[in-house]
Amino acid sequence: ALPKVTVPAVVGADLRVPLVTGERVTYANLDHAASAPCLEQVRDAVDELLPWYASVHRGAGFASQVSTRVYEQARDKVRRFVGARPSDTVVFTRNTTDALNLLARSVPKGTAVVLFDSEHHAALLPWRGRHVQRLVTPTSSDAAVVALDRALAAAPVGPRLVIVTGASNVTGELWPVAEFARVARRHGARIALDAAQLAPHRAFSVRELDVDYVAFSGHKIYAPFGAGVLVGRADWLQAAEPYLVGGGATAKVTDHGDRLGVAWSAVPERHEAGSPNVVGVHALGVACDVLSRHWEQTVAHEEALLARLRSGLESIPGLRSLSLFTDSSRVGVVSFTLAGLDAGFIAAALSAEYGIGVRDGAFCAHVAVSRLAARTGAHEQRALRASIGLGTTAEHVDRLVAALRTLVTDGPRWNYVERDGRWVA
Ligand code: PMP
Repeated sequence: ALPKVTVPAVVGADLRVPLVTGERVTYANLDHAASAPCLEQVRDAVDELLPWYASVHRGAGFASQVSTRVYEQARDKVRRFVGARPSDTVVFTRNTTDALNLLARSVPKGTAVVLFDSEHHAALLPWRGRHVQRLVTPTSSDAAVVALDRALAAAPVGPRLVIVTGASNVTGELWPVAEFARVARRHGARIALDAAQLAPHRAFSVRELDVDYVAFSGHKIYAPFGAGVLVGRADWLQAAEPYLVGGGATAKVTDHGDRLGVAWSAVPERHEAGSPNVVGVHALGVACDVLSRHWEQTVAHEEALLARLRSGLESIPGLRSLSLFTDSSRVGVVSFTLAGLDAGFIAAALSAEYGIGVRDGAFCAHVAVSRLAARTGAHEQRALRASIGLGTTAEHVDRLVAALRTLVTDGPRWNYVERDGRWVA
């Protein structure tokens, strides 16, 4: 059976949301790519830990021992989930953004970074001001491999790092990560995988893909907010000064009168200063375990709903779905524009009149969305995104398709005004 998400269990068998008409309907959450609702098993695990969480590593009391064990066991769960090498370090962070910023702070000086411009801002921005080669995303994944090869051949001698997303948060398209890794190896470069959108949808292994680093967030894999992870080669992280300093990151602090001497801890503690998020990390670890046990059902569920969604969307007049590549399959994420209609207005009407939650805008990937919009000839720099997860049903998908058709052909039933950049009923 599929793992159950908590929304129905917590809020009543059929969570109802108010419509602008005063009716109530079951909520159709089609925004899993932003954050996924908590799994029941994750909630139960969190419930069990709540009375016991305490300070890890230092406390001698029973609660501290429990918390330390839970915290360290979560590292093993993450290791298994990503197929880490024994020598890899697992650093807990706040989220993917934090993990990628940590990596950016830890690469040796002068590292040449190569990435494509369609990356999420979390992968794109931490490298500003460094030696970065930002490549224009081509129209096929094969061409992307060739472009990467060329860029690395021309990169200066010294450490090099490739950043690639596993699945685009805009189009859901899978990037050719294993091919990128082969190219990177050939040029003696390292490669980091932004798995924020891949991790909820597909099993992967850093060993099999042969990537050096991977980052992802708990809240996209059906655990609550506040915990993410960076896994990978220990050497650069071990050599780097921590960018967050304080307790936990230090092995020894000595008073030299006019200055303090600090010996930083070894990784991973070196980069986990302050009291860690034991509960969030536990939730993330449990989510990893639950997902690992259900890949077959999860992928089958999503693929069936994705096919249903895509064929439904094809029938909507003026709808153009966005793709980076002509040769890539995708996870359950679809973005689209509607000719002549503002994405924010449609998203507001879907919520107010149909109880459907989608995302609108440029999805923290402004360069990607404007390039894609230009390719489809759309003037809009904003799109709509529907994303499928474990809680999605065929009824949610059908409701979205029917609602879009009605909105495009008959318009909304209600009046909307734009206020501070948002449409309200
Ligand atoms: N990378 C990708 C591909 C994402 O989709 C996201 C989240 N939208 C992030 C990075 C950043 O994740 P977080 O907000 O959890 O740091």
